[in-house]
Amino acid sequence: MHGSRAIGVMGGTFDPIHYGHLVAAEAARTCFGLSEVIFVPSGNPPHKADRSVSTPEHRFLMTVLATTTNPYFRVSRVEIDRPGPSYTVDTIEALRERLEADARVYFITGADAVMELMTWNRPEAILQMCELIAATRPGYPPADIRRLRKAIPEANAKRVHTIEVPALAISSSDIRARVAQGKPIKYLVPETVEHYILKSGLYGGQQVVGTGGGPLSGFWRR
Ligand code: ATP
Ligand code: MG
Repeated sequence: MHGSRAIGVMGGTFDPIHYGHLVAAEAARTCFGLSEVIFVPSGNPPHKADRSVSTPEHRFLMTVLATTTNPYFRVSRVEIDRPGPSYTVDTIEALRERLEADARVYFITGADAVMELMTWNRPEAILQMCELIAATRPGYPPADIRRLRKAIPEANAKRVHTIEVPALAISSSDIRARVAQGKPIKYLVPETVEHYILKSGLYGGQQVVGTGGGPLSGFWRR
């Protein structure tokens, strides 16, 4: 294939990762001919300080489990291993250092997160380093995207793309609430992630391993 390589970057808290994230990443990959999508779980994010986020290791492992069946998906530890708060611009810069100079980077995000992303970082700086793919609900007018397009100069507006994602209604907050209430999360997250959540007792769920307090029960609680 000619032309420069294009890769996707999907940042998130992934607490937990779910089929919405995976469907959005795969749609972006196929629509934009991306050679790979790199999932970047955040370190402990300052703007989610209102609730206790699961440890980076739990979120990293769930992301690895969820992506193993897709040969085009990879997981990066760049934000997890970096001390202090992470900014998307720094992450893209760090990932870029390992790519060819002319490689194109697409940052994949939900339409709801676009404005948040742009508030935490300078839109111009981000759009200089990467293009943006925002996942929107099918047939739903993406107000956030229109606002964003209005807020940036015409030249950069072409660097903001949208894709329609049918699984957009799935959210990590809903999954955490379901686990806490003992409701099923099957078919919302990959089975491996479902089992990991239940085994580790994340989100206040009933822990299903080591019920007798066996030697392994502590391991999953770490
Ligand atoms: P929470 O409910 O805790 O906010 P979340 O489900 O939004 O979690 P995040 O880890 O915060 O998950 O999101 C990471 C990225 O994935 C963000 O850009 C977000 O907009 C996007 N995203 C989240 N849910 C979906 C979904 N169902 N479909 C497509 N993109 C999504
Ligand atoms: Mg969110």
